[in-house]
Amino acid sequence: MNVPFLDLKAQYQSISEEVKTVMQHVLNATAFSGGPFVERFEEQFASYCRCKHAIGVGSGTAALRLTLMALGVGPGDEVITVPNTFIATAEAISLCGATPVFVDVEENHYTMDPTLIEAAITPRTKAIIPVHLFGQMADMDPIMAIARKHSLVVIEDACQAHGAEYKGRKAGSIGDAGCFSFYPGKNLGAYGEAGGIVTNNGGLASHVKMLRDHGQSKKYFHETVGMNCRMDGIQGAVLGVKLRYLDVWNYARIRHAEKYRAFLGGIDDIKLPQNRESFHHVYHIFGICSKNRDALLAKLAQKEISAGIHYPVPIHLQKAYQSLGLAKGSFPVAERVADEELSLPMFPELTMDQIDFVATAIEVFNTQSKAFSLLNNKVSSSMQWQGVTGFSA
Ligand SMILES: *Cc1c(COP(=O)(O)O)cnc(C)c1O
Repeated sequence: MNVPFLDLKAQYQSISEEVKTVMQHVLNATAFSGGPFVERFEEQFASYCRCKHAIGVGSGTAALRLTLMALGVGPGDEVITVPNTFIATAEAISLCGATPVFVDVEENHYTMDPTLIEAAITPRTKAIIPVHLFGQMADMDPIMAIARKHSLVVIEDACQAHGAEYKGRKAGSIGDAGCFSFYPGKNLGAYGEAGGIVTNNGGLASHVKMLRDHGQSKKYFHETVGMNCRMDGIQGAVLGVKLRYLDVWNYARIRHAEKYRAFLGGIDDIKLPQNRESFHHVYHIFGICSKNRDALLAKLAQKEISAGIHYPVPIHLQKAYQSLGLAKGSFPVAERVADEELSLPMFPELTMDQIDFVATAIEVFNTQSKAFSLLNNKVSSSMQWQGVTGFSA
């Protein structure tokens, strides 16, 4: 058996007729850039997120960048975020000329630790970007309270959390804006690059709309310097089809997560993702932690199971951010997660046999490595007992 990390083909096959039909509609209408298919998707996605406005753009990175620009974040400003995220979160800040300031994440959930935020706030701080990592939302209530107290804006990086909830509220709907990626591998993925912003702030929505389209208020009348970040018509149409399945697909992910939990719950070297009450986790990624991560990853690869690491190097230790001068040890939890995290195959079409196969491979690995270390300990203690020195594991 071979278990891919993600299987976009299986999903395409399940909706291919609908996708071909809407793509044909886009072709017939030659509505390639922006246009009615994007507008329809924007309305549907805003209502799905229980927000007043949604704006379709070219990528998740663009969504973050345009939102920061529209909120007036620029050179000299600081934006607080976390070091264990996809690089795009920090890039969007840097591309505005602002500086990312990191705070560490919570020990059990890997999302922004609200207790560390206030110490990171300076007179230059303008915004906070919590990241809803792996499909589970950050602890938004304390984050919003701190932001309000210090007059900071909050932008949710919801690129991994389409449909996730926090105390009954949808990802993207709590902060001043929520940014989504519709990269093909995300829970809601386009058939190319795409992203979106949701907000209840009408002024922010129209500003972002202007910025994604060269800052123009009407054709060839440019109010401000923007860029080209429009969403393709084809992506809007495909996303409109796929949005109808998002909840069903997310529930399939949740069922798979429960299966993994049932199989792996008893293994002490494996730390399972911790689910919090009144958080609706949508498992973009099923990330476990293991002290033996690299050996386990190699063992799974041997069995043709594709697992991943999200992410092997935290942002403050990336070459691209060496100018921040943040040494190893600056964010111990994020660094530990980078050393121990392993993402198991997770996608809605995963079968029970595949989950069984992955879990069995992990169990076997664990039993073998336990037996091995037990043996090692026995050998070393019996040698010590015999007075042999210089032997150590
Ligand atoms: C995917 C992702 C992004 C960037 O989205 P793109 O569409 O690839 O530009 C940003 N932040 C997080 C947390 C992501 O997972």
